[in-house]
Amino acid sequence: MPVAEYMALALGHPEHGYYMKGDPFGTDGDFITAPEIGQVFGELIGLWSAVTWQQMGMPDRTILIECGPGRGTLMNDLLRAAGTVPAFARTIEVHLVETSPALRDRQAGTLSGIGPVWHDTLDTVPDGPSILIANEFIDALPIRQIVRDNEDWAERCVGVAGGALRFVTSPVSDDLGAALPNNALPGDIFEFCPAAAAFIDQIAARFTGHPGAALFVDYGYARRAAGETLQAVRDHGYADPLTDPGEADITAHVDFGSLAAQAASLGCAVFGPISQAAFLRSLGIVERTTALLKNARPEQAQALQSATQRLIDPAAMGDLFKALVVAHAGAAAPAGFETQLAPGHRQDD
Ligand code: SAH
Repeated sequence: MPVAEYMALALGHPEHGYYMKGDPFGTDGDFITAPEIGQVFGELIGLWSAVTWQQMGMPDRTILIECGPGRGTLMNDLLRAAGTVPAFARTIEVHLVETSPALRDRQAGTLSGIGPVWHDTLDTVPDGPSILIANEFIDALPIRQIVRDNEDWAERCVGVAGGALRFVTSPVSDDLGAALPNNALPGDIFEFCPAAAAFIDQIAARFTGHPGAALFVDYGYARRAAGETLQAVRDHGYADPLTDPGEADITAHVDFGSLAAQAASLGCAVFGPISQAAFLRSLGIVERTTALLKNARPEQAQALQSATQRLIDPAAMGDLFKALVVAHAGAAAPAGFETQLAPGHRQDD
């Protein structure tokens, strides 16, 4: 089966899929994400949302959407910070796009009292002025891998040989290779994420009728190049993506450059990608951390400082993680993106 189908099953099979079974986050789980590292991440995104709502003209109803909300931690921290702008908080209706029943349970616990509405896909989320947040969501969407096979392009697939799963290739069923450089070398791999492209299409359609902004934070790159980024993580370490499917998180780096170009070609305003460090610094992560430190006990102070460090240190998450905003046509630069270069240029490109 093609890599995309394998990835979709390994993560989303109703019984054996990785996300379907339970809660993979935190120090006891397999990996840790920004909102689980520190509350300041979700809080700053809450303030970002409030500013975005003001820029949207302060609508009476804000459809606040989170895709892949994990444990619900980001949304919880976001809403607490949004509460400091009551005029905004009053307008919020929370919609969560989440396929995993186990994680929906977990989100319901974290967000008890909020009354979120869950959806399997963005299709069923009501129309209206909207703010969409997706942290480490697109990296979980299945990718296709197209391999240069001597003179031709081939689809990278997963097959069985000698009782074990192996990568194999088969002919590509469409003309995806036509978009790829013809000076590619045999063995070069290029990745495509059709599900992410479909998601951008849906967002662009949403933002034609109503104002809106979508914030994507993920690890990824600004320009497509040959190389494979499919990876499996288990127990806070790298694992073989073909071993024990359903037992490890499988992700791929996000091709922000292609998503940004696609959104722009659909008429959206696009900001970034910029590094997570640049985004969080310009939202005031350092000042917010300093303020929290004033009232923190020594052990809390240590945790606060190391969380902020981890989020913005280029050697940790600061550089590899990027932030991208897709908004309705003509939208002003959102908070954190004010130093955006003239249209057509992207920072960190
Ligand atoms: N945003 C959270 C969790 C990231 S993990 C955080 O930062 O901590 C990826 C999340 O996306 C999980 O909640 C997973 O169940 C969900 N998910 C993965 N694929 C999905 C899909 N196709 N549709 C909806 N949710 C999906």
